Amino acid sequence: MAISVGLNCPACGGAIQVAEGDNVLNCGYCGSLLWAEGDAGVMTVAYRNVQGRDSVLRATEQWWRKGWKARDLREKGKLLECYPIYLPFWSTTTRVAGWICGYEERRHTDREGNVRTERIPMEEMVLNDYRYTSIACDPGDLGIRYLRNVGGEASFADFESIPTFESTTSKDEMIATSKQRALEEARGDANVPHITFERVIAIPKGISRIYYPVWVVRYSYGERMYMATVDGVTGNVLSGRAPGDPLYQSLAVTAGTSIGGLIAAGGLAFGLGAGEGLLALIGLVVGGAVLALTYRFFRHGSEIVEGDFEGKAADMRGKLMKEARRTFRGFHT
Ligand SMILES: [Zn+2]
Repeated sequence: MAISVGLNCPACGGAIQVAEGDNVLNCGYCGSLLWAEGDAGVMTVAYRNVQGRDSVLRATEQWWRKGWKARDLREKGKLLECYPIYLPFWSTTTRVAGWICGYEERRHTDREGNVRTERIPMEEMVLNDYRYTSIACDPGDLGIRYLRNVGGEASFADFESIPTFESTTSKDEMIATSKQRALEEARGDANVPHITFERVIAIPKGISRIYYPVWVVRYSYGERMYMATVDGVTGNVLSGRAPGDPLYQSLAVTAGTSIGGLIAAGGLAFGLGAGEGLLALIGLVVGGAVLALTYRFFRHGSEIVEGDFEGKAADMRGKLMKEARRTFRGFHT
């Protein structure tokens, strides 16, 4: 007898029917091979690694050439290690449903120049599914916190040969975070400028686990060690650290400093010449801002960092969550 226990396919989000005693099955929607893991029977999928050492190193070399990285990386970079691992991720689907009421203000100016503010009442229905992913173990220094891609060939065939990180973070915490995030996003999507009343609820529809293959490349340049990670499904570089190029940096600092200085000096000269203290002040402020930006960009200039590393995590989260929503909106079960 098939019983539905509120489980979702980690690959497509579809509702899974699990027969009692069964722990390996195919998703009825997308056909992915899944297994029910642990006491709570969390649906788990693993994606096959389709990259090899050669394609991973090629991707890394291409990545070295992009941006402001040291130009002699290809000659001077020394490969230390290159290996695949399976990283666990939680994947959640959260439905937000309800109503958000409020108003929008519009200003009208009549012929006499009188301004009248009109309040236009708004009543928005909210009904959306939001899907999020988050790494389910300590990412260490890998710079990966979320999945950019959810897909690939579902298979456990590589499980024997590729080391797997156990999931260590709490399932309940992931569900709670997803609810909170989904509510925030649903409010944003409803787009009611002034909210006066709302009745929205976030319903966790499913949590599943994804084991995703990631290649880790470690290399040295001069005295220092750097790394990159490459997606085992798509072959894209996910994160990494690389030495910056000294020439690019000094050029940028010189240009930034000169432009900042010129704007400041120009504003001062022009402002004083015209007898306008305000203009001089604006010139100084703008010039100073350009200098400050230059400094901020190149303070850590000896290293180029890409990925979800500590400190950059908050920005990345915002971006990836948005992407996840666009991709998965409209998945219903
Ligand atoms: Zn599926």
